[in-house]
Amino acid sequence: MPLTSTTRREAPGRAARRHFDTYLFDLDGTIYLGTDLLPGAAELVSTLRAQSARVLFVSNNPTRSPQDYADKLTRLGIPTSHEDVYTSLVATVAWVRAHAPGATVFPISEQPLVDALVAEGCTISDDPEKIDLVVASYDRSFDYRKLQVAFDTLFVHGRARFVATNPDRFCPFPGGRGEPDCASVVAAITAATGVACEAVFGKPDPAFLEIIAAETGLDPATTVMVGDRLSTDVAFARATGMTSALVLTGETDRATALRTPAAQAPTLLLERVDDLLQPAGHLWDVARREVRA
Ligand SMILES: [Mg+2]
Repeated sequence: MPLTSTTRREAPGRAARRHFDTYLFDLDGTIYLGTDLLPGAAELVSTLRAQSARVLFVSNNPTRSPQDYADKLTRLGIPTSHEDVYTSLVATVAWVRAHAPGATVFPISEQPLVDALVAEGCTISDDPEKIDLVVASYDRSFDYRKLQVAFDTLFVHGRARFVATNPDRFCPFPGGRGEPDCASVVAAITAATGVACEAVFGKPDPAFLEIIAAETGLDPATTVMVGDRLSTDVAFARATGMTSALVLTGETDRATALRTPAAQAPTLLLERVDDLLQPAGHLWDVARREVRA
């Protein structure tokens, strides 16, 4: 039976009900694409909240603060507090707090991460003799000068640590377009220096869920991670014992999803995000059979 949602989507409020205690939603490609809300997203979040589910947003995009994302979601019709948004920026700062407190940092990043590191007590520097930590990130102002500073710091002086905010290759935009993300910056630095990142934050790093669980008390066994990317969203769920739901409105198309080996496959497959409210027996069984085919 094809997984076309038009034939089996039911009006929210009748059969629609929550199946998990906590819902973690990726943002780009899952809740919205660029500046456009994806179909059913606002109604889904509203329905889940009305049923006392905990709804959190988990993004690997470090170019904006949790408050920026809360504002964007609220503008799009999903009223959200910054306390319900976790980004790779949050994960990065948590790691610095635990492993490099007060470090002198060279962030190859946009301003929100710089601001967060300063607020955490770090000193920002581009002097290779002083830098303790190079943080690579999704940085649309990345240039040869920044690459040179990273090279001098990691290769010439060779004492600093090297980490990255998130593993994503690109950020999806509408119409199949996108922007190079953090992995591109990491690759340039590693190609020049031969130095690999010692840690990459955000999804699928299990430490990211530990941060979220410590603040919210969520139980992975009753949590679903909903996202559009196999290598981050689904892998995150698999690494931490959460149920995974792959939605086909972003990076991953249906053919790719169905070709995924069982060891990397999602638990659930959704045409659009509000398929989550379908009666469990129907959607779950179909999704599992098709993904494993
Ligand atoms: Mg995404």
